[in-house]
Amino acid sequence: MSITASPPAVRSIYLPRSPCGTPRVRMTVRSNAVTVVPILTKLQKDCATPLPVLRHVADAMAADMRAGLAVDGGSDLKMILSYVDSLPTGNEKGLFYALDLGGTNFRVLRVQLGGKDERVVATEFEQMSIPQELMFGTSEELFDFIASGLAKFAQEEGGKFHLPHGRKREIGFTFSFPVKQTSIDSGILMKWTKGFAVSGTAGRDVVACLNEAMERLGLDMRVSALVNDTVGTLAGARYWDDDVMVAVILGTGTNACYVERTDAIPKLQGQNSTSGRTIINTEWGAFSNGLPLTEFDRDMDAKSVNPGEQIFEKTISGMYLGEIVRRVLLKMAEAGALFGESVPENLCTPFVLRTPDISAMQQDTSQDLEAVESILYNVAGVKSNLSMRKIIMDVCDTIVKRGGRLAGAGIVGILQKMEEDSKGLIFGKRTVVAMDGGLYEHYPQYRRYLQDAVTELLGWEISKNVVIEHSKDGSGIGAALLAATNSQYEHDF
Ligand code: ADP
Ligand code: MG
Repeated sequence: MSITASPPAVRSIYLPRSPCGTPRVRMTVRSNAVTVVPILTKLQKDCATPLPVLRHVADAMAADMRAGLAVDGGSDLKMILSYVDSLPTGNEKGLFYALDLGGTNFRVLRVQLGGKDERVVATEFEQMSIPQELMFGTSEELFDFIASGLAKFAQEEGGKFHLPHGRKREIGFTFSFPVKQTSIDSGILMKWTKGFAVSGTAGRDVVACLNEAMERLGLDMRVSALVNDTVGTLAGARYWDDDVMVAVILGTGTNACYVERTDAIPKLQGQNSTSGRTIINTEWGAFSNGLPLTEFDRDMDAKSVNPGEQIFEKTISGMYLGEIVRRVLLKMAEAGALFGESVPENLCTPFVLRTPDISAMQQDTSQDLEAVESILYNVAGVKSNLSMRKIIMDVCDTIVKRGGRLAGAGIVGILQKMEEDSKGLIFGKRTVVAMDGGLYEHYPQYRRYLQDAVTELLGWEISKNVVIEHSKDGSGIGAALLAATNSQYEHDF
């Protein structure tokens, strides 16, 4: 452990004054480091991910995948059929659009595809934010707003973008909310999440909602493919590289999809696709088997809007890492007097400490940890000394290490399942896992821990064949490509 106790200051019995309103046990506090270090040690022990734990997680992931493919509801993993049976080949040609609705923003994109030789001739995109009131309005209001954004964007088309005469503009629609897909171009919204509370959409086909809004505006566009963001990422990365077999998103939340053989999907009941393959959206955020969890995870889950659900997501994704750290620091402040005699008020506010904050702290290589000092001050209103800052860095590292390593074990679980069904076709040759999402992109330590776990699990030889690579914003182009592959018009290719 890198912590040295600050000069021992034996004090009389006192309780740190906490504005959080949580009951505390009366205890003797000798000095902060003396009482905080055991909390850190226990945290490190509870979060440890030695090889046997990683192996258990990978095996359980593979087993849960099989159970979810056998019957609907057979496992924590929903293993949703994407209806994407043909992946981009590189031969796609023409003008296509993509629309990405996944959070507080929506993005529109147009791409002119030039076939094998020219590939992406031109691409343009625009991002628009969704006014707060529309997140609580009616379905018509929201989709009218989106359709009018699309209309404005389509009007500005020109330059290298050409639509053959008599054709509608076709859109790949990336919609990152829980959808029960019913065909490649339809799907029922199960419920809004991520702060949306729009009335009248749940239970309806979101493609119909958008198509109706476009009709109301007289906009001559149609949705040809409804895609999950992981599926878009897989399609976008596959366009450039035939070895891409898996895509993983690590952003606010997390999810993964992969290319599956239709004969390995019992719940399809013989409905084979012509290609014999299809993309399965695992919804792996719901995985929960054998994860090393702590009291902080359990408390956070209990207080969440979806207790008992999305446990893997709550352990490894960007929305939660900072919050877990905050909960640890709060306990250190209350039970161990980390910040002296009173508990900083800001530290009581859920989600004040965000994952980008802990990531920024971990990038601080200065001797005095000056950046850590100022982040702690700005975010939590806390004045800190160097030994406290070192402890806090260790807490961040513990939570991020567990997250990255478990994500790596999950990836190995997927690859392992695929390899078991097709000996040598995954581990015996180059296989690419396309990664995207803000957490993966911006957190170098997390990326390193993820890769370490994959290498440890697979061994040096096999892991040389498994390429884990960032596919930045591939999902937009991926959705447009899936609109092309599923175009209603005769293919130009
Ligand atoms: P979404 O999952 O909502 O589509 P992104 O893929 O853009 O969003 O990821 C955003 C998430 O990435 C944020 O919620 C945050 O958790 C994480 N993130 C953003 N910036 C950083 C950063 N600098 N360091 C670590 N994590 C970050
Ligand atoms: Mg996203």
